[in-house]
Amino acid sequence: MSAIDGLPPLREVIRDHDLVAKKQLGQNFLLDLNLTSKIARAAGDLKGCDVLEVGPGPGGLTRGLLAEGARRVLAVEKDPRCLPALAEISAHYPDRLEVINGDAMEINALEYLTPPIKIAANLPYNVGTELLVRWLTPAIWPPVWTSLTLMFQREVAERIVAKVGDNHYGRLALLAQWRCDAKIVMSLPPEAFTPAPKVHSAVVHLTALPAPRFEADPKLLNQVIAAGFNQRRKMLRASLKSLAPNMEALIEEAGIRPTERAEQVTLEQFCALSQILKRERAAGRG
Ligand code: SAM
Repeated sequence: MSAIDGLPPLREVIRDHDLVAKKQLGQNFLLDLNLTSKIARAAGDLKGCDVLEVGPGPGGLTRGLLAEGARRVLAVEKDPRCLPALAEISAHYPDRLEVINGDAMEINALEYLTPPIKIAANLPYNVGTELLVRWLTPAIWPPVWTSLTLMFQREVAERIVAKVGDNHYGRLALLAQWRCDAKIVMSLPPEAFTPAPKVHSAVVHLTALPAPRFEADPKLLNQVIAAGFNQRRKMLRASLKSLAPNMEALIEEAGIRPTERAEQVTLEQFCALSQILKRERAAGRG
């Protein structure tokens, strides 16, 4: 029996349910319940919160979230082989765990939850970034969730928290930091997982800000950032040229030297540029 909840240890669960990891589902399981509880604690106080978990697998993090006091966990798992193991956890925590067997990319599970809502997951590598981008770009802000506590490959985690001038600075950092506080709260070696992946991992904690850090139109901001980083080695006067006829002057107006590259431009400057472009488009000049 495990100390955190009296349920069987995860190695036993995996053996009893024959959960041989499938690579195509990004299955690298966490079997140490002390570690999964620590990740659950990194999500902050869970009492009184609904939690969305994507990819519970055999339920290590799910058990951590429940043991740490989540009011209710809704877990979306694609692999039907995991359902019997998850049903045992549900039975142990009556009315607190619901499992949807399906693809998190196709189900908007957030609509089944009641605020305050937190999202916590050891994400499958193949869909992790795409899900993060979706959570960061809802139609209205603030979003329905208050925080995201997510495991990524270390390199992706560094892209989320990177600052201007860092190697990993780019679209993901700007998107995340425009409307969230983002920090790496835990680093994990490959051996923490079964089977061990090739790369190191890290847990990123993102807290939704009540309003974006700087005013900007989401669509235009995304366009400017995409154009700048799609050709990140080029000077901005070249990479952003197609956005407006007088782009070089607009770049200068935003306080940016047109000879700079996207990786040297701050979030505030990108936002300023997007607002200038908005004005130009409204005046029929963009
Ligand atoms: N949370 C478990 C843990 O920490 O041990 C498992 C994490 S494992 C990295 C990723 C999990 O996501 C697997 O259980 C896998 O079956 C599931 N998964 C993969 N793609 C998915 C998808 N599109 N929707 C929902 N679950 C998915």
